[in-house]
Amino acid sequence: MNNYEYLLKDINSIKGIGLKTSKLLKKKNINTIFDLIWSLPRDTIDRTNLVKINELQIGKIHTITVNVKKYNFPRIRNLPNRVYCEDETGKIECIFFNSYEGYIKKILPLNSVVTISGKIGYYKNKYQITNPTHISSDINTIKKVFSTYSLTEGLTEKKYTKIINDVLKNIPDLKEWLSDEILKKFNNISWKNSILELHDPKNIKRKGDFLNRLAFDEIISTFLINSKVRKTIKKIKKKNKNFDDKEFNKIKKKINFDLTTDQLKAIDQINYDLKSNQKMFRLLQGDVGSGKTIVALIASINVVSSGFQVCLMAPTEILAKQHYNLATKIFDKSINIKLLTSKTEYKERKEILKNLQNNTINVLIGTHSLFQEKIKYNDLGLIIIDEQHKFGVKQRKKLSDKGGKNCDVLVMSATPIPRTMIMTVFGDMDTSIIKNKPKNRKEIKTFSKIETKVEEIIKFVKKEISQKNQVFWVCPLIEESKKLDHQSSVKRYEILKKIFKNRVGLLHGALDKDEKNKILINFLNKKIDILVSTTVIEVGIDFPNANTIIIENANKFGLSQLHQLRGRVGRGYKESYCILMFKSNLSENAKKRINILKSTNDGFKISEEDMKLRGYGDLLGFKQSGLQSFRLADPVLNEDLFLLAEKEVKRIELENQSLNRYMTLLKLYDRADILNDLV
Ligand code: ADP
Ligand code: MG
Repeated sequence: MNNYEYLLKDINSIKGIGLKTSKLLKKKNINTIFDLIWSLPRDTIDRTNLVKINELQIGKIHTITVNVKKYNFPRIRNLPNRVYCEDETGKIECIFFNSYEGYIKKILPLNSVVTISGKIGYYKNKYQITNPTHISSDINTIKKVFSTYSLTEGLTEKKYTKIINDVLKNIPDLKEWLSDEILKKFNNISWKNSILELHDPKNIKRKGDFLNRLAFDEIISTFLINSKVRKTIKKIKKKNKNFDDKEFNKIKKKINFDLTTDQLKAIDQINYDLKSNQKMFRLLQGDVGSGKTIVALIASINVVSSGFQVCLMAPTEILAKQHYNLATKIFDKSINIKLLTSKTEYKERKEILKNLQNNTINVLIGTHSLFQEKIKYNDLGLIIIDEQHKFGVKQRKKLSDKGGKNCDVLVMSATPIPRTMIMTVFGDMDTSIIKNKPKNRKEIKTFSKIETKVEEIIKFVKKEISQKNQVFWVCPLIEESKKLDHQSSVKRYEILKKIFKNRVGLLHGALDKDEKNKILINFLNKKIDILVSTTVIEVGIDFPNANTIIIENANKFGLSQLHQLRGRVGRGYKESYCILMFKSNLSENAKKRINILKSTNDGFKISEEDMKLRGYGDLLGFKQSGLQSFRLADPVLNEDLFLLAEKEVKRIELENQSLNRYMTLLKLYDRADILNDLV
């Protein structure tokens, strides 16, 4: 029974959709019939309000049953056609612009009784309905509650409703893919009936078994693919890595802090994977400043000591450099570490490529070009990707393949997200989570201050600088205009320069990479005290000496973004501060965001609050991830469904069930293409 194929047909196969309409829909990314059924009702219109003409209220939508008495079809262009109607209590005119006589005569035959619904107008002492869309001789087809849809420009409500209704009429019965036990939890509602319910005006609030079932379908299709990728990778047998605690102990002596219990746990989990003969495919997740880098470097040295090479990819050059510096500091002199970025001179690059192949380089650190270029390793044992939460499951799988069969993979992410989202976005990987921050780390003290009191802030900044601390001053991007993007930061820079002279630097998006790097390095080397910037401050760079961040127009930023920005400070041992500046008249939502930030430094809690306020789709960096394909499932609201899906997928894995049963689901939900890559 391949009747799901109807759903994957191009929309222009629907009766009544011509080239023009299909173009309009395709512009909105509605390409197939399946896409169309996810354009959900926006609202409802109640046409059950049946009255007599003498009871009509102007401006309201009413339904009336009338006699068609007379036509008036003027032969003059631009004058509308009119149809005079009445009931025993009064008269009303139907006015048609741009409608043919023939059509009007057909829907409103002279001397017939018809039911009409529409918005009541009043002109020159007469009731009228202009371009009525709902007319029928059968009262039951009109006197109803209708779903209304967000309209595509150029399409009328009537046309759109007709298209949707046609599609809904033809929705096929699909062979059930959910197991009996799961289906029972949704009162056995089928996929087809769930879709019909979804469009039913009585369900405009979208609650009930039908919704849970459809949300569950989305979740489980994602989880099944994750599970399949994971299994495929786990099947690869690799040479296991052999090492003991010797290197680890050396490093412990070189760092001036104790590792946290979560760091130690992550190291244990990674070691276990490295030593096994299954390929590691692991996510190391931890809030900004939780100390992921050291964990990654310990993994690196263990892999090197067991005779393999390591490559570490950072998202920016400056971050790569910082990792490189740290590695050079804590690894033995005998370990050959190289930095490869777009800055690397041709000669040196050639040398690096050669030495990688003859295995004299142990660790290569760089930006992600490390993998796009024709770089051949001798025996790569571990790839580490830092801060790449934007990688989707497909890209990660590709990366793992490129690394070769002996190569373990460790992905680091600083976006604290709830477990339901980890299962979704990183469900193909094992996870290690660093939740607790280093012990002696102090909470970042967060304040809010109205813009007009900037003098007080400047006084505060002076005090911090006099104590040899450094300050970030963040100005928001002005989204309306690309050109104006950095104007607010330039302005602030000029003002601060008058006060702090040449101890201020400015960083914004219009600078080129070299200029940016120079300024960042000046800040790192304490040649400047204040760094004014738009949000381009690089993720992940460690500025241990910066203890204060001022964020202007804080209400312009989302909660998670503010948290990430705030995470630029508070990395050293000293007291650190975040000052959120705002203009007067904060919206309720903005007030909430600011209060949440003041009340907690816990990134997980903040991201959860953020999702509650904005929905998960907007959460930092996740627009590009697989989550966007969830139309109904919500990681906060439907936590129970995520857990249920997790359990179900585990059962399927345990029983070694094939995915055949789910093929229709996977194909419809656009997950099957990756499956093809896996077989
Ligand atoms: P992130 O997880 O954001 O990548 P980093 O690895 O850059 O964080 O670490 C932030 C700072 O915390 C660094 O200066 C690092 O040396 C320090 N750090 C890491 N682990 C600890 C620890 N257990 N105790 C104290 N400081 C630590
Ligand atoms: Mg980092």
